[in-house]
Amino acid sequence: MSKPKLFIPGPVDVAPETYAAMGSATIGHRGADFEELYASIQPGIRQIVGTERPVFFSTSSAWGVMEGCIRNLVQKKVLNLCCGAFSDKWFGVSESCGKQAEKIQVEWGQPIDPEAVRAKLAEGGFDTVTLVHNETSTGVLNPLEEIAKVVKSFDDVMLVVDTVSSLSAMPIDFDGLGIDVLLAGVQKAIALPPGLAVFATSEAALERAAKLEDRGYYFDFLEFAKNDAKNNTPSTPAIPHLYALRERVNVMLSEGLENRFKRHEENNAMVHAWGEKHGFELLPPEGYRSKSLSCFVTPENLDQGGWIKAVIAKHGLAINGGYGKIKGKTFRISNMGNETAETMQELLDALDAELPEFLS
Ligand SMILES: *Cc1c(COP(=O)(O)O)cnc(C)c1O
Repeated sequence: MSKPKLFIPGPVDVAPETYAAMGSATIGHRGADFEELYASIQPGIRQIVGTERPVFFSTSSAWGVMEGCIRNLVQKKVLNLCCGAFSDKWFGVSESCGKQAEKIQVEWGQPIDPEAVRAKLAEGGFDTVTLVHNETSTGVLNPLEEIAKVVKSFDDVMLVVDTVSSLSAMPIDFDGLGIDVLLAGVQKAIALPPGLAVFATSEAALERAAKLEDRGYYFDFLEFAKNDAKNNTPSTPAIPHLYALRERVNVMLSEGLENRFKRHEENNAMVHAWGEKHGFELLPPEGYRSKSLSCFVTPENLDQGGWIKAVIAKHGLAINGGYGKIKGKTFRISNMGNETAETMQELLDALDAELPEFLS
């Protein structure tokens, strides 16, 4: 039986062209062919990240680099900004790395308030802040620009930003905002199969890392920087994923990034309008809603599990029934990656077709 097409917020549907690119012949990673592959991805991926600095490739999921950020940057104390499953977990990761950590915790569905960040940092003692730009579990888009301004107003505080479900779906200006580390997995908006993460570091982040002695090896930022100078990676990378990344980045550039952002915004607006028609409420407040996915509150009279199963069984399309502690209480629809107005409409029609049977 063929697998359902994924409209869950990651991993998302992968284009046949991307799978085909992954089938390219394996090459040795310490040779000219690999260096050429690595270098060929740089201009495009840097444009997507909004930087002139190198973008590193980590053969891991995003969490590898997220843990790496803690190990490479936190000397004194980290402030984890928590507003959902992924951002909350980062606090636990900080502690499990043996670091001093504090958090600002807001209710799931709410964004982080930049002024709360200012007040907390003013207490002193912090040298790193972690922020999830687009909290995939709740559909909250945090005010990155405002939070970056606040963090940058404190000396020697590193700003680490998880853009796992926003990179390439929304504009991001790494250099302009003064972000110190930006990271993303490739199985969300970039629409590759899972298995690779990309990240960029500021010069200050590398200087900080050089002062820490227990960075470990696999996610040592200095190893990534050293190898990048030779268009290479510290250890054997997921070469099929790099072929796939080159293919997707080229597709993004030929679409045009502005067009790509606009397409995501419009497809997201379609889902919002569909929800409004049914009286489904979005979990995040107006002004803080993701443009790459929509997180709706499940109405009391909806048998959500039955509905989602029916849409998979009869239409071969899968949405998600909530994540973490709001599983079953929310449902999420992704519009990330390669989706068009037509494919989104197909999904919404399928959801509509099965809905009446599961409403009481
Ligand atoms: C999916 C996701 C992660 C975790 O990614 P993995 O690939 O499972 O490591 C982290 N942060 C956000 C915002 C995500 O959406």
